[in-house]
Amino acid sequence: MDDVIVIGAGPAGNTAAWRLAESGLKVLVIEAKAIPRVKPCGGALTSRALDLLPEGFSSYTKSHPTQWTFSNARRQVTITSSTPYCHTVERQYFDQWLAEHAVSRGARLIESSPVTQIEPIAEGYQITTESGSHYTARYLIGADGGHGISARLLGLPRAQNGAAMEVELEVPESLFDKFSSRVEVDIAQYPWGYAWVIPRYPILNIGVGSFRPKKLALKSLLDNYLNFKLGDFRPSSPIKPLAHPLPHRTRLGPLARGHALLVGDAAGLMDAFSAEGIYSALRTGHLAANTILSATKDNLPLDSYNLVIQAEFWPNLRSAIKMAYLFYPLAKFWSEIFFNDTHLLEQYLQVAQGTTTYQQLLHDTEMSLLNHAKIRWPNTRTSE
Ligand SMILES: Cc1cc2nc3c(=O)[nH]c(=O)nc-3n(C[C@H](O)[C@H](O)[C@H](O)COP(=O)(O)OP(=O)(O)OC[C@H]3O[C@@H](n4cnc5c(N)ncnc54)[C@H](O)[C@@H]3O)c2cc1C
Repeated sequence: MDDVIVIGAGPAGNTAAWRLAESGLKVLVIEAKAIPRVKPCGGALTSRALDLLPEGFSSYTKSHPTQWTFSNARRQVTITSSTPYCHTVERQYFDQWLAEHAVSRGARLIESSPVTQIEPIAEGYQITTESGSHYTARYLIGADGGHGISARLLGLPRAQNGAAMEVELEVPESLFDKFSSRVEVDIAQYPWGYAWVIPRYPILNIGVGSFRPKKLALKSLLDNYLNFKLGDFRPSSPIKPLAHPLPHRTRLGPLARGHALLVGDAAGLMDAFSAEGIYSALRTGHLAANTILSATKDNLPLDSYNLVIQAEFWPNLRSAIKMAYLFYPLAKFWSEIFFNDTHLLEQYLQVAQGTTTYQQLLHDTEMSLLNHAKIRWPNTRTSE
């Protein structure tokens, strides 16, 4: 019997695994696919995400954009920084490196083995994989992402699913150079979402995503966006877009029950305004490891994880949700406010650097709206 089984070898599961194994626990990671496996993702790592990684990530970063261009249908604004806004990685190799790190710390990894069943047993849990193999552990971490089964099998509330579709394109150097130093985000033309271009040398990651994708034809939105961004360039082989859920929550429910808990996308803890999810995956991986390390000595249940998430993680995420509910229904209007007051755009980017919070951004957005109203109706009071 292992101390901990981690289902899923993405950033969330691998982080929890290396932390727990390094502390001397017997850890088994079970991954559905063969590693390296593809994960549709822009691969943009922000400073707050980098701070949570073990040493050595820099060999996996490909581009370091220092500009962020925001556009709506009318105009665009570019914000420039002296330091990179993010560092981009190819997810399959970045995740492989994290999995190898977990193994180097003592975790065991079983690949190509989708988990199909989770059963509580007297000592913890029995896990069954597609091939019929059984594994047991005292504690369980559901880190199986947007397509995972852990939340459902553990009877924990599942997240809502947005959706995104993207392509990875190797483009001529001259075209890559146009985008090489900046992330482009087009807002206000995609209901409850946006389109993006993220450079990852020598590739451009281009996609469209929405938190309310139900009636959206993502494929045709993506095709139009590609035509718009790529001009005359046509790839030599057909483009194969990849789609993936954007699991997120508007309410925090329990994320731990008994000796099991959820992390990362399996927990639906992605930023529900920006769709940044790697930071949440890494952070919850660490918080899960801390919780299990405190519980394991006395074989305690993991209820305290719910409190930790509520206290340390949820307040900023809840403000991200408020921001989404404020911004997306009136995205054209708000994009103009943000473009006129670039301090708000800078603040938004700083949330991802960890140097300010969504609470502060919400406050400043309200102030900016008041100023906007004063400028438009300066004499309202005196004319009464
Ligand atoms: C198109 C797109 C672009 C994005 N761009 C960015 C970005 O630029 N920056 C950013 O921060 N975030 C981005 N995100 C979000 C980010 O990709 C996710 O939030 C992040 O991958 C979550 O990590 P995770 O470890 O929780 O899950 P995952 O990375 O999804 O890992 C889960 C793992 O579990 C495995 N698994 C699933 N089911 C089972 C099973 N039954 N048994 C065993 N294993 C299983 C999967 O194979 C997978 O390896 C993007 C998301 C999408 C869809």
